[in-house]
Amino acid sequence: MNAHAPPAVQPLVDPFGRAIAYVRVSVTDRCDYRCVYCMSEDMNFLPKRDVLSLEELDRLCAAFVGLGARRIRITGGEPLVRRNVMSLFHGLSRHLAVGTLDEVTLTTNGSQLARFARELVDCGVKRINVSLDTLDPLKFRHVTRWGDLGAVLAGVNAGSAAGLKVKINTVALKGFNEDEALSLVEWAHGRGFDLTFIEVMPLGAMERDRADQFLPLTELRARLESSLSMTPSSYATGGPARYYNVKETGGRIGFITPLTHNFCENCNRVRVTCTGTLYMCLGQEDAADLREPLRRSTSDAPLLSAIRAAIARKPKGHDFVIARSASPATERHMNTTGG
Ligand code: SAM
Ligand code: SF4
Repeated sequence: MNAHAPPAVQPLVDPFGRAIAYVRVSVTDRCDYRCVYCMSEDMNFLPKRDVLSLEELDRLCAAFVGLGARRIRITGGEPLVRRNVMSLFHGLSRHLAVGTLDEVTLTTNGSQLARFARELVDCGVKRINVSLDTLDPLKFRHVTRWGDLGAVLAGVNAGSAAGLKVKINTVALKGFNEDEALSLVEWAHGRGFDLTFIEVMPLGAMERDRADQFLPLTELRARLESSLSMTPSSYATGGPARYYNVKETGGRIGFITPLTHNFCENCNRVRVTCTGTLYMCLGQEDAADLREPLRRSTSDAPLLSAIRAAIARKPKGHDFVIARSASPATERHMNTTGG
């Protein structure tokens, strides 16, 4: 062995033997929409001083890459509304260029995508998730509280034209989009996009009872199976979705079922909020403050040990319950932790 070689970094492995190779980083809690299942109508957003600067976010991501993270997903809030967010993507591309990172991906509502699609590709982004719950402009306005479907469709088209592999994420909402499931699938597959349905999760208090929104995906799948021939697929993106191939369209449908099937046993991820709070599990309150060690020292040593200490207490899993009048699993809304 070369005596001058740097010591091999101990990979991040949690107490259950799961290697943590995937970090989802929320770059803002703000959003240009207020989706009814994600935010309440009058949200209080964080003061700017609490939010990590783009330089701090870059340092934080670099620390995770140094600890063996192979994939980073940028999310929010709406990541593309953060001023100058592209400088972060440009910064992260250096890890892609030298091969210390496999992938930088993005989850977006698509409203600003038409402006940024090309630049994302230039920064090495290859895959993006775009959230879209309906193709009806009025229903879209309703579910996002004021969003413009046309802007999102223009964003999706621009992303696809720029060469991004687009996946559509659709939250299944009872009485809202179950009757559109088939047309959403046909629309997405007709454009070469995979589509993943997500069960609504009990995160953050809401004006409405969650039980009114919850639609088990077992029901939705049965509905789709009455029109489509679906066979389980071995396709996996490293995420929690279980995929099915659809014979009629040649496309894939994913199902993310945190409620009806717990997917925690293969969890390979952690989440960092825009204030530098590391959540080891989306559905649990335990967290570690990374902002303090990040701001305390220009050396990364305190930050790295804070990350290691946190991973050492990653819980086995979540225990979401959606029952009438049940309290949310966490006080924080999804825009805080990032999807
Ligand atoms: N603004 C971006 C977007 O909408 O894609 C990124 C952040 S958003 C919080 C990420 C994903 O979380 C979206 O697909 C959204 O539909 C989903 N989401 C938000 N609240 C949710 C909830 N309570 N249950 C399940 N999914 C939720
Ligand atoms: Fe914004 Fe995304 Fe939450 Fe909708 S789901 S309010 S677009 S952060």
